[in-house]
Amino acid sequence: MALKHTARGWWLADAGDQGPSAPLDGDLDADVAIVGGGYTGMWTAWFVSQLEPGARVVIVEADRCGAGPSGRNGGFVNEMWFSLPTLRRRFGDAAALDVARASGEAVAGVGRWCEEQGVDAWYRHGGYLQASTAPAYDDTWRQVVAACEELGVPEVCRPLTGAEVRARCGSPLFRAGAFYPGAATVHPARLALGLRSRLLERGVSIFEGTRAERPRPDGGGVVIATGGGRVRAESVVLAAGAALAGERPLRRRLTVTSSHIVMTEPVPDVLEELGWSGGECITDSRTLVHYFRTTRDRRIAFGWGGGRVARAGRLNGRAELDPGVVAEVERNLVRFFPALAGRRIEHAWGGPIDVSPTHLPTIGSLEGHRVHYAVGYTGNGVGPSHLAGRILASLALARGDGDSRLAIVDSPPGRVPPEPLRYLGGTVVRRALLRRERLEEQGRRPGPLTRFVAGLPERIGIHVGR
Ligand SMILES: Cc1cc2nc3c(=O)[nH]c(=O)nc-3n(C[C@H](O)[C@H](O)[C@H](O)COP(=O)(O)OP(=O)(O)OC[C@H]3O[C@@H](n4cnc5c(N)ncnc54)[C@H](O)[C@@H]3O)c2cc1C
Repeated sequence: MALKHTARGWWLADAGDQGPSAPLDGDLDADVAIVGGGYTGMWTAWFVSQLEPGARVVIVEADRCGAGPSGRNGGFVNEMWFSLPTLRRRFGDAAALDVARASGEAVAGVGRWCEEQGVDAWYRHGGYLQASTAPAYDDTWRQVVAACEELGVPEVCRPLTGAEVRARCGSPLFRAGAFYPGAATVHPARLALGLRSRLLERGVSIFEGTRAERPRPDGGGVVIATGGGRVRAESVVLAAGAALAGERPLRRRLTVTSSHIVMTEPVPDVLEELGWSGGECITDSRTLVHYFRTTRDRRIAFGWGGGRVARAGRLNGRAELDPGVVAEVERNLVRFFPALAGRRIEHAWGGPIDVSPTHLPTIGSLEGHRVHYAVGYTGNGVGPSHLAGRILASLALARGDGDSRLAIVDSPPGRVPPEPLRYLGGTVVRRALLRRERLEEQGRRPGPLTRFVAGLPERIGIHVGR
């Protein structure tokens, strides 16, 4: 079978097609209108309908629910403990702990939801392993381990020796690592489509093939116009992912990069040889991170967060289909797992990543607290979008309770340069990171210019890496 290189990828093809919902045709009123049918929008709809069962909830989705990154990601359901040092710096110890704990509750919450709703999204609680593949990365997790010890939660991130890492997965590249036992994996498209079908059963109105324009205030409410009609709502939730990088005022809070994944044929013999049976999702420790996990049918999904930078708002094209980047991902797959040489790669795909300058999601309210948003997951949205959905539901219903009081809500946003500087600067920095990390993996020290350019974002207050 020849490699299929598509925009949507293997997971959505495997999950099957539920058939589209009709586009919006006419005007209607709602209590909460949600722009975007990815995890953020759908979890928000779920929690609104749970908090207020009679509420009229509408989702308008430009494409199909789950057709964006939510249906085609790596399926790592991570907590935010690896962001603990950043969270502490920004919010202080107690608030940082609250956010990280809430993100852990979100991971468990995804699993509970699948069980309660009878949605088989392949949820597996196998933990997350961060591995070092070169001396330059051997203590990448030092600050996280120290922060967890200092705050009295050493169990959430444990350093591992090389032998301990290789006992979990025997890649010859692994030298040491850190293990986060709270993480899980899912089949991302089965989760997205499971959410979609449960929302429809609950009476949430979903209009697909319906692109929303920017929300406008209208009397005491907000109106969103689409090609075929308008929704007038008490409150609006913007859950449009990377597309928000093209929209004021959020566009100065995001850079859009891209990530690409390849999926092998079933390789049970290789997994056995690697001893990789615990369901761990694994990354290396580079900034342009490699990430990989097994599937229930014994494949390896192997991704790379080193795709090209996308100009704000232009998300199709090489953010989704990039043969050059996919060839690089295939080469690295075999470097990590030499036993895969000659084995079939069945599918490749990609998608945009909404990168926030703090590497933390940005969640908050605009327009006199009638419009709420969550974006900027920076490649870690599968778990945190469940938390964001809880927060957004509380904000949209003007409850202001529970998790909506967490420090990540309405926190001072980081800012990125305007276009075209953001795209050009991001492209130059990406090249420097590629060069730096290639040399580091060869055990060589990058030159001063490469180090300078790769370090530029941190110098202007933009956090890269975990
Ligand atoms: C290749 C890849 C691998 C990844 N791997 C992981 C991983 O393993 N773990 C992890 O935690 N995260 C991962 N991520 C990130 C994760 O997928 C996202 O953080 C998460 O899906 C974000 O969900 P969302 O609902 O906010 O956005 P999206 O899934 O992007 O959904 C936004 C939706 O809004 C719609 N939309 C956009 N504009 C409009 C408009 N004007 N009107 C109506 N609808 C609109 C889009 O069509 C889309 O369906 C990965 C991402 C990619 C691309």
